[in-house]
Amino acid sequence: MQGTFQHWWVYLPIIAILVTPTVIATWFAIQLHRERVSRRRDGADYLTGLPTRRAAAVVAAQAVLDAQHSGTEFAVIVLNVDRLKPINDSLGHQAGDELLLALSQRLRPVLGSNSVLARLAGDEFTVIARELRGPREAEALVHKIVQAVRDPFVIAALDIHTSLTIGVSMYPLDGDSFDLLLRRAEMALRCAKAASRGSYRFYALEMSNAADERLSLENDLRRAVELGQLELHYQPKVDIGCNRIRSAEALLRWRHPTRGLVPPNSFIPIAEETGLIVPIGEWVLREACGQVRAWINSGMSPVRVAVNLSAKQFRHVDLVAVVRSAIEESKLQPGYLELELTESAIMDDAEKSASTLEILSTMGVHISIDDFGTGYSSLSYLRRFPLDKLKIDRSFMRDLLSNPDDASIVKAIISLAHNLRLRVVAEGVETAEQLSFLRELGCDQYQGYFCSPAVPAAAFAALLLKMRAERPELTEADMLRTQSRLSAFTPEIAP
Ligand code: C2E
Ligand code: MG
Ligand code: MG
Repeated sequence: MQGTFQHWWVYLPIIAILVTPTVIATWFAIQLHRERVSRRRDGADYLTGLPTRRAAAVVAAQAVLDAQHSGTEFAVIVLNVDRLKPINDSLGHQAGDELLLALSQRLRPVLGSNSVLARLAGDEFTVIARELRGPREAEALVHKIVQAVRDPFVIAALDIHTSLTIGVSMYPLDGDSFDLLLRRAEMALRCAKAASRGSYRFYALEMSNAADERLSLENDLRRAVELGQLELHYQPKVDIGCNRIRSAEALLRWRHPTRGLVPPNSFIPIAEETGLIVPIGEWVLREACGQVRAWINSGMSPVRVAVNLSAKQFRHVDLVAVVRSAIEESKLQPGYLELELTESAIMDDAEKSASTLEILSTMGVHISIDDFGTGYSSLSYLRRFPLDKLKIDRSFMRDLLSNPDDASIVKAIISLAHNLRLRVVAEGVETAEQLSFLRELGCDQYQGYFCSPAVPAAAFAALLLKMRAERPELTEADMLRTQSRLSAFTPEIAP
């Protein structure tokens, strides 16, 4: 033992081989960090070397003085790089960084000496365009910027196409400080994003009014759950073959003290953006399951309840626990609950979606794809996820009888679903003609005003009683039957 330590230096080359890469990597990391810190100290962005937000504020303050002196105007142009996230996700952050760098290098010469390009954050840049004679000149510059990114960027030996969505505000018309001009340009950017990626908008006063309105709605929504202003209405899903109500879709309504009954499309997007959808969605799940328990206790024939989950709710870490506890609290079989998800909610993080859906489906909860046909074109996920049902989007119903394209799409979705052993529901059925066409195509269920709009729980119970008088009753096993290959619950009835 002692002899070994006496000749410790024999191991020096091996130790050197092991340690050298770590030393080199650490040295590079320190250099990179130094470079970033020194760039930041200079007011420069570490990746692109462009001015940061703080440095841009200094430029803008000077631009205000210059504009006052020369009687000219200037524009604050905010640029958002579209689709940076999917590029980061698929090609890695290194590729995303390269794209941002290449984009900034391509824009600089286009802008000319009177404009300053700065990086605000992540995928957002700003241009302070000085010495303009009005919005027309700003618009001409915006066109040049849009044109500059038309050609693809070569990143990681691939042609990457991107676009810029743009918001613009003008000094002095839209504000007299950089802070206000930037906020208003960002407001314009949000409007452009809502219209379409790759578009641009100039700030207009209505945008502030809409933002104020949104803020007031958001404040009211924060208290809506605790004030008991939310309620669920239920819309029947009917078996086309036997004209019996098999399940009910729970659709959220907000009974606002002054605005009246607010439809979900007016507040769900706000709830999504603010994260309020998580507590609201939890309330919906518990309320819907509690309602089914109340219906069962009152002796009604069994109906499953379908609850919509938005993307943020679906990705929330507590989802499975919340679903489980909503079911257990109401003492329901999991097959009484169906979850409706859109294609985009599922595809956002397909790996994670697959594992969440597998847990839910194994529990016995049913899974439907909502608004099918409007989202992703990739169909491979249909094999990958444990699904029960496709809901054909209601936009295909409107012209089903007059537009052969819509009819072909509906026909194709039905046969695709059946080949994959999934059920199909047609949404938005309003006429007897649409229904009989769907019957001919072999569609399993329908939902729509032709049977009933979404109605309060008591009215739904009355509707069920009326239809029950006309038709034979559904058994519980009938209703719980699932199409998922994973479900642990297999009712004792023939498929
Ligand atoms: P969805 O899940 O696709 O719901 C169907 C929508 O179509 C409902 O609108 C329903 O009232 C409407 N509809 C039903 N039959 C017909 C018909 O025959 N013709 C026409 N033109 N429309 C029909 P609603 O209630 O306004 O809901 C809109 C969307 O809001 C829902 O679309 C769903 O995505 C979302 N939503 C509703 N409740 C909730 C909820 O509790 N949580 C979440 N995350 N989203 C919800
Ligand atoms: Mg739905
Ligand atoms: Mg739908």
